[in-house]
Amino acid sequence: MIQQVFLTTDVQFYAIILNCYALVCVRSGSALSLIVMKFGGSSVGDAERMKRVAKRIVERKQAGHSCVVVVSAMGDTTDDLIDLSKQIYDGAPPAREMDMLLTTGEQVSVALLSMAIHNLGEQAVSYTGWQSGIYTEAVHGKARISDIQPQRVLNAIEQGNVVIVAGFQGMTEAGEITTLGRGGSDTTAVALAAAIKADLCEIYTDVDGIYSTDPRIVKVARKLNEISYDEMLELANLGAAVLHPRAVEYAKNYNVTLVVRSSFTYNEGTNVKEEAVMEQGIVVRGIAYDKNVARISILGVPEKPGQLAKVFISLAEVQIDVDIIVQSGVINGSADFSFTTTLADRERALAVIEQIREEIGYREVTSEVNLVKVSIVGAGMVSTPGVAATMFKVISDLGISISLVSTSEIKMSCVIDNSNSNLTEVISALHTAYGLDTTEQAFVGGPEDRR
Ligand code: ADP
Ligand code: ASP
Ligand code: MG
Repeated sequence: MIQQVFLTTDVQFYAIILNCYALVCVRSGSALSLIVMKFGGSSVGDAERMKRVAKRIVERKQAGHSCVVVVSAMGDTTDDLIDLSKQIYDGAPPAREMDMLLTTGEQVSVALLSMAIHNLGEQAVSYTGWQSGIYTEAVHGKARISDIQPQRVLNAIEQGNVVIVAGFQGMTEAGEITTLGRGGSDTTAVALAAAIKADLCEIYTDVDGIYSTDPRIVKVARKLNEISYDEMLELANLGAAVLHPRAVEYAKNYNVTLVVRSSFTYNEGTNVKEEAVMEQGIVVRGIAYDKNVARISILGVPEKPGQLAKVFISLAEVQIDVDIIVQSGVINGSADFSFTTTLADRERALAVIEQIREEIGYREVTSEVNLVKVSIVGAGMVSTPGVAATMFKVISDLGISISLVSTSEIKMSCVIDNSNSNLTEVISALHTAYGLDTTEQAFVGGPEDRR
């Protein structure tokens, strides 16, 4: 018995030495490395997929790498939990309780994935966000990560474990559970990769890389070998769901080596990096769309200094994010202006504007839904004439009028009517006009069964 105890201890001792060696190799730049692998909801949608992901992780581990795995809730679990809350609570449920509910989805995934890895004979340990030392600001529903104390994760790696961390969740200094916003597991992965100084962060999803536009909408979308942090940040902010915007922000700020690839194939993915080579003749790198847009217009606002500030300070005080803002010229001493919010914030924004009606002295407020914001992104746009003209022409040739326009050095967005479901047509026409269509690579990489 005593001998057995010694034997186990010896084995554990050598395992620790081996793992220390692996970590030393990582630091000295040898082939062994410390990798963060993130698997999204559709990659772990059922038991079979979970087992396939486990196999993929074990392959990495057995090739000598140290692996930290971040995982999302299975399939549509987060949406299902939101639906459930709607059956219980009329209106927007208390934000704290909503975070308590939604974080359970990821907790199920980490436990099952750890079991699947154990089942293949490898050592693994699952942690929640707070067990992994992920601290966030004290905001529910869309908290920012404020600090990561990764010692527990690092210790577990040193002991030879695959460490599996629940994505999308953290904890405030006061011990409250928070979530990072929809799609936030990407951010957990990249932030963790930065905190543990991983050599690589791989985002495994249900497409085999980042495409010139959503390959589920445009079948001739072109797969990109690489894209710059700045371009990807714009695309993500403008609606390209493939990466969470804050994940790209972290990757850029901490110079994380980031790759997006499929969990269903072994195809090479897309590298997201500081500078990306542009193919000859291509100016627009990608096209994104966002249906989560509402327009609000305030008409007949008497012209005097500080009017715009009053409106937007009032909106900011209740944490309403405003996107595009357009003001018309002054006619007969008054001006009109329009701005966009998310659909969820529209009613609250209208209520805020109603409260300051007398102070501002405006004539009327209107609002519109059923819109879509279509955007083009490309680092070369600023130095190429005619890019904007092409966008306007393509949209007007389809008989669609443009409500709002916004531009920056590397992007341009048009808000258009989406009630006639012409989105695919618009994106496809833009894709063709900017020379992005390809015949080379058909979209491969994942299931079509998406909600
Ligand atoms: P996960 O569950 O793995 O986090 P997401 O649904 O968040 O997956 O992101 C993957 C999806 O992003 C794809 O299925 C695709 O439809 C969509 N997508 C949108 N824009 C792009 C793009 N430019 N390139 C690749 N995928 C995109
Ligand atoms: N499960 C969360 C969501 O569906 C987080 C994520 O998938 O990244 O938004
Ligand atoms: Mg995602």
